[in-house]
Amino acid sequence: MSSGNPLSTPVQYLKSIGPKRAESFSKIGINTVRDLLYYFPTKYLDRTTILNSLRINQLVINGFDGEVTVIAQVIDKEVIRYGKKQILKVKMMDSTGGFECVWFQGIQFFKNHFDKNEFYAVSGKPVLTRYGHLQFAHPDFDKLAEKESKDFMNTGKIIPFYRVAKELKSTNLGDISLRRIINFAVENYAANIEESLPGEIIKEHSLLPLRDAVMNLHFPSEKELLDKSIERFKFEEFFYLECLVASKKNRIKHLARGIPFHVHKKELKDFLDSLPFELTEAQLRVLQEIREDMETPRPMNRLLQGDVGSGKTIVALIAMIIAAQNDFQSALLVPTEILADQHYKKISQMLEKWGIKVSLLLGGQKKSERNRILESISNGESKIIVGTHALFEENVIFSKLGLIVIDEQHRFGVMQRGSLIQKGVTPDVLIMTATPIPRTLSMTLYGDLDVSVIDQMPKDRKPIKTYLRSEEKLPQVYEFIKEKIKEGYQSILVYPLVEESEKLDLKAAETHFEELRSTVFSDCRVDMIHGKMKWRDKEEVMNRFAAKDFDILVATTVVEVGIDIPDANIIVINDSFRFGLSQLHQLRGRVGRSSKQAYCLLITKNDFLSDSIINNINLDYLSQAQIDRHKSFIRLNAMINYTSGFDLAEVDMKLRGPGDIFGIKQSGLPELKFADLVADTDLLLKAKQAAFKIIEEDPRLMKEEHHSVKKHLTENFSESLKLSFIG
Ligand code: ADP
Ligand code: MG
Repeated sequence: MSSGNPLSTPVQYLKSIGPKRAESFSKIGINTVRDLLYYFPTKYLDRTTILNSLRINQLVINGFDGEVTVIAQVIDKEVIRYGKKQILKVKMMDSTGGFECVWFQGIQFFKNHFDKNEFYAVSGKPVLTRYGHLQFAHPDFDKLAEKESKDFMNTGKIIPFYRVAKELKSTNLGDISLRRIINFAVENYAANIEESLPGEIIKEHSLLPLRDAVMNLHFPSEKELLDKSIERFKFEEFFYLECLVASKKNRIKHLARGIPFHVHKKELKDFLDSLPFELTEAQLRVLQEIREDMETPRPMNRLLQGDVGSGKTIVALIAMIIAAQNDFQSALLVPTEILADQHYKKISQMLEKWGIKVSLLLGGQKKSERNRILESISNGESKIIVGTHALFEENVIFSKLGLIVIDEQHRFGVMQRGSLIQKGVTPDVLIMTATPIPRTLSMTLYGDLDVSVIDQMPKDRKPIKTYLRSEEKLPQVYEFIKEKIKEGYQSILVYPLVEESEKLDLKAAETHFEELRSTVFSDCRVDMIHGKMKWRDKEEVMNRFAAKDFDILVATTVVEVGIDIPDANIIVINDSFRFGLSQLHQLRGRVGRSSKQAYCLLITKNDFLSDSIINNINLDYLSQAQIDRHKSFIRLNAMINYTSGFDLAEVDMKLRGPGDIFGIKQSGLPELKFADLVADTDLLLKAKQAAFKIIEEDPRLMKEEHHSVKKHLTENFSESLKLSFIG
């Protein structure tokens, strides 16, 4: 046994483990007693939720049809054959009566799980058979030791269940033996667990000490203590997450010196007056926030949120003009070449008479052209440089980079953002996104950023009309498109893939383009664009579409991000059930960018439509299983019922479950095992406050009482800490 910390004792030395089982524990990452103590239950059995079979019988007779849990002993099990079919029947008894469990599938598997005379907790939806038997079909079940089941009924202790990994099963460990081993570890070692949070925080937020929280998470004596333990772990996760965020913010605030830009009001006003529209109140407010940031000597770090079409570009452009007025360069970073090209054209046009030089830097440019552009970037002649990831390349040298604008930021990773920032001295950064993130969340994910929101659409916009249509109705849809050409409408027809994939039976833009052009649209002007084209060809197609050289654009999802063509006011999305909600919203956002009525037609399979019997679903009434089954229909339905990105994001969140929302997984932030960024916002705010307070008082965590925090951060998050230096 090791002489140091008892928690570092190898599990091999625990009662009933030994070398063989220790090996199987090691395979699932459990080597020491500490690891074992942190192997937490996945569910619990709580006496208050247990009913007896007599009670269940009465409930069912009275029409109850929910889920219940009962603890009973196996009396008998048998496999019954009906012709080709088999049924496994397990008869069980508790002190008040009997019932049966039946399985129609996985007969052998389940049969082996039940042993005569053993005790089980069974959960499911009970029914009465026509013979009057109480029956559970395919219930959930967990094995209990006899003593456990008796103690449980008497003392009301809560029983934990652990995931018994197959590695453990192979050394003959089951629910009961694993529970016993962990119980032994908790009783003999948990007292050695050291507190990881500062005492003042524990006190202020009346949290359970870590030791108690670990014990009660395994073997809670009552429900309240279990809840308190979970709360403690949630708080701790949030706390350390926010410590990372706070130290990042702190570093930027104190170490980095930014540029105090001077705003030339008169010129700016002239520019605004030259626009064909007036800025919305929301745009003006956000502009004010950005302007204040730019004027201070502290580097701006601002996230600009605004739904598709809310007019973020013009706001960014004004910030870039301010930089140019101060003789600084701006880099506008966008995710696709088409979008870069579009921004470049619009901006150059708008700035023509203001003497600000704009350049475009893309991957596939000719060498001579590229050299010319690089030259004008490095000699400072170019003031606004629009580009894709090509801007990250080493040989791109800015003369005086003062502002970085990142458009559609959700498309970029954390590291990329960092590598551009390193290029300038400490330029201001403006990050734009159409992904609507609840405020508490953005505070966390981008906690080092200040947030501005454009929560208003330009006033002349009409809500886009969205309809769901089966493929059979396509001829009518095509007629509609043709009719509308007479009113000056242009249409976009979107298909999911570039090439026909036999397996998926999806329409490919290419095939459909050929077909449409030679049939229904033979007398119309049609062209196409897809992801595999070179950007020059894409650019050419988009330019001609914008110039109204043709009226119908057949496209793959390359049109998804940011494209802005005012007269494109009909979008038809084929195989719409294949797209995710944010993608559908982005696609729809391609139209409705003028005062004309716009239309979005979601096309889907006929049988898919007839399958989807539920209409106007209220998600709150559906179980997760039902949601999963009807996901694509729910998505399409949401598109019909909602136009705002915020509403759609909420639906999307419910569809995805708390697992991965808003790309948190890619965000480089530590994983949350207990806490839920959406459901636990109150706790998040408290933890944030506590973390920021500590970091502000003691940024380098030098104080004695903060040592545990420092230790925890360096041991667990050294990667994230590194990221936070550049992020
Ligand atoms: P997004 O926020 O999706 O990037 P854009 O910046 O592309 O939106 O703006 C969408 C369209 O609305 C553009 O054609 C833009 O010129 C126009 N626009 C922006 N602000 C206004 C406004 N205040 N009034 C009218 N049109 C506006
Ligand atoms: Mg945009």
